[in-house]
Amino acid sequence: MDFIETRGNDGSKKSSVQFSEAILSPLASFGGLYVPEKLPSFGTEFLEKHVDSSYQELAKDILLSFGIDIEESLIDEALSRYESFDDPKNPVPVKKVKEDLYISELYHGPTRAFKDMALQPFGVILSSLAKSRGEHYLIMAATSGDTGPATLETFKNRDNIKVTCLYPAGGTSDVQRLQMVTEDADNLKVIGVEGNFDDTQEALKSLLASAEFKAALAKEDTKLSAANSVNFGRIIFQTIYHIHSYLELLRQERIKMGDSIYLIVPSGNFGNALGAYYVKKGGLPIEKILIASNSNNILTDFINSGKYDLRGRELTQSNSPAMDILKSSNVERVLYDKFGAKRTKELMEQLNSENFYELTPEELKELQKDFDATFSNDNEVLEVIKEYTDNGYLMDPHTATCIKAYSEKREKVLPTVAYSTAEWTKFSTTIAKSMGFEVDSDKEALEQIVLNYQLEIPEKIKELYEKEVKHLIIVQKMDIMQEMINFIES
Ligand SMILES: *Cc1c(COP(=O)(O)O)cnc(C)c1O
Repeated sequence: MDFIETRGNDGSKKSSVQFSEAILSPLASFGGLYVPEKLPSFGTEFLEKHVDSSYQELAKDILLSFGIDIEESLIDEALSRYESFDDPKNPVPVKKVKEDLYISELYHGPTRAFKDMALQPFGVILSSLAKSRGEHYLIMAATSGDTGPATLETFKNRDNIKVTCLYPAGGTSDVQRLQMVTEDADNLKVIGVEGNFDDTQEALKSLLASAEFKAALAKEDTKLSAANSVNFGRIIFQTIYHIHSYLELLRQERIKMGDSIYLIVPSGNFGNALGAYYVKKGGLPIEKILIASNSNNILTDFINSGKYDLRGRELTQSNSPAMDILKSSNVERVLYDKFGAKRTKELMEQLNSENFYELTPEELKELQKDFDATFSNDNEVLEVIKEYTDNGYLMDPHTATCIKAYSEKREKVLPTVAYSTAEWTKFSTTIAKSMGFEVDSDKEALEQIVLNYQLEIPEKIKELYEKEVKHLIIVQKMDIMQEMINFIES
């Protein structure tokens, strides 16, 4: 299958590319993104075939239905990464929490957040492609917490790939920071930056624009790629668990084939939600995709009013930091799918020049056929965590934003799957706060919580506190480039 560009083709790139090309060089003409030219079908026939499939069997068929130019043996190797999840037979447990609310847990991989769902297999494919082509790539990640650990974990000790990871010193949870700075592999470089996440991202942008940096990359014959969800190689793995969740409700005899369900997706960059949109379009019976946000509620406003308005908006720090995003990259792919390349280019250019765009009333109606949205502020998140913990289900703050959508945004009484995108252990200080415990660190929070709820600190988290710190470096913004160049040359 061919992949084409959301903002049309500028003549300097091929008018369509294969999957491998789209993931090695993910940036398309005019600053756009790659998308599949046609979407596969995931209707009843496809679902019937997979009622008894394992997650890996289902995944393989989905990948093949996108017509990707990847050998089956490499696909198998990539998907075998799911065997390192807590339950190799079912990497994504779907648990009944109450009446018709089911939680699909996407955090059972090595770094305890949903980023592993895509990055684990994606890392295998990207580095194998680089190696077979004899090419070397640098992946630069700027992280507020979850992307960093998952990117490092998937690429550690892989051939032909180097990864640098910038994080705001003091701006992540202790557990997230330890997951990064204790990673021990020669092809990884983790750098703390004095400042907040915006400073970190800005530093990365100016690096990308620097001639000196480009020259250093060229000298080492190293190309740049990306591992965030602008890369379609991430999105493709984020279609699988939506279909899996539907099949799980069938297996649990909660629904019959063809019954509609709601999905609730806690969203930031809209990659997870886009995966849901693609399978809905392919025929999976989804009534609507409900988008949950925190106080950075630009997606709520957009889906309710058609206005994407950055003017006068400032990013606020919430207790669900992985969703603290205002420019949500993957909305563009939905716009493309619904309104075509010409209109998408127009809207994206307006967003760049005026910090604003607005859909026509007809376009808004079209968007609302698939999506509805709401948001929760920090206090509402704390209350949800407390209420559900008291009833025996511990959830992280990102997951907690789903609950308001569940109680307020469903127009029909239908079984509903909400996604849990992180294990509670990554945000233990917030969890402790919701329970009224006074704590000074994540470690104390973890200890208090397990003590009061007869739980255990999972092994993967406990061992972080015993591992040696390998990346001590914290630098000023202006010193980042030199650190990076030293690392590329090493
Ligand atoms: C990345 C992340 C999200 C947001 O996912 P998107 O695909 O960017 O919308 C939500 N929750 C957690 C815990 C995450 O790490």
